[in-house]
Formats: sequence, C-alpha cells, structure tokens
Amino acid sequence: MSVSNGETYNDSNIFARILRGEIPARMVFQNEFAFAFHDINPQAPVHVLVIPKGPYVSLADFSVHAPDDLVVGFWRAVGDVARLLGLEEGGYRILTNAGQDAHQEVPHMHVHIFAGKALGPMLSRG
Ligand code: AMP
Repeated sequence: MSVSNGETYNDSNIFARILRGEIPARMVFQNEFAFAFHDINPQAPVHVLVIPKGPYVSLADFSVHAPDDLVVGFWRAVGDVARLLGLEEGGYRILTNAGQDAHQEVPHMHVHIFAGKALGPMLSRG
C-alpha cells in the first residue's frame, strides 16, 4: 500500500517496530541518528535500508521537520554505511521513495542502498 506525503506519522509501521526491537532485522550499522539493515526482499546483491531514528513519514516530512543535527547525522550515516560495506570502489545507488507516485510502501523515511552489480539505467523504461 502506498502513502501520501501529507500523512501523519503512525508508529505502528514496520520500521518503527524494528527500531523498538519488536521485530528482528539484519542490522548492519547504527548510531544515535540512524539504523541500517538488510532489505527483506533484496532487489540487488546488496540492498540495505537506512532509516532515521525519529518519527518521519518520508523525505517530504523529514526535510521540513527533522532537527538539523538529525538531518546531517542521518545523511552522513548513509555514506558511512556504504563505506563500511565496501561499496565505494564498485559504486552504489541510493534511492528514497516519497509518497504515492513513488510507490512508498513503508511510511517511515528510509533510503535504499543498492550495489553489487551493474545497476542499469536510473529508471525503468517500461
Ligand atoms: P518502499 O517501497 O521504498 O517503501 O520500500 C520498502 C522496503 O521495505 C521494501 O524494499 C521491502 O522489501 C522492505 N521491507 C519491508 N518489510 C521489511 C522488513 N521487515 N525487514 C526488512 N525490509 C523490509
């Protein structure tokens, strides 16, 4: 199910539950700003999700409402995760879906990191 950008944060979403430790995740990194874990349905050999430790629906919400230290700490963590996973030499792609047209499924801000093969064109031509 997709979500719209104007939606109020609902802390029953699956990533909020992962942050609270209520359901398991294959963690790769965490600090005070961010938590990173393997996607349950990987779309590339490496497919990791990075989520901020705060109640934001999407980038539309995060970019307006998150405090500056969290915005900086989160985006720095995205780069840190890629580096820690050894992805810089081969390259990687980050992607964030925000709202309905992007088919955002989980209404907690997240960034996908894809790597491990030639990733092809940026958007499907289909
Ligand atoms: P999006 O369409 O950007 O909202 O992507 C949501 C992503 O979350 C998808 O790639 C799912 O495979 C992934 N996902 C959903 N539930 C879990 C979970 N419990 N653990 C890890 N990844 C998940």
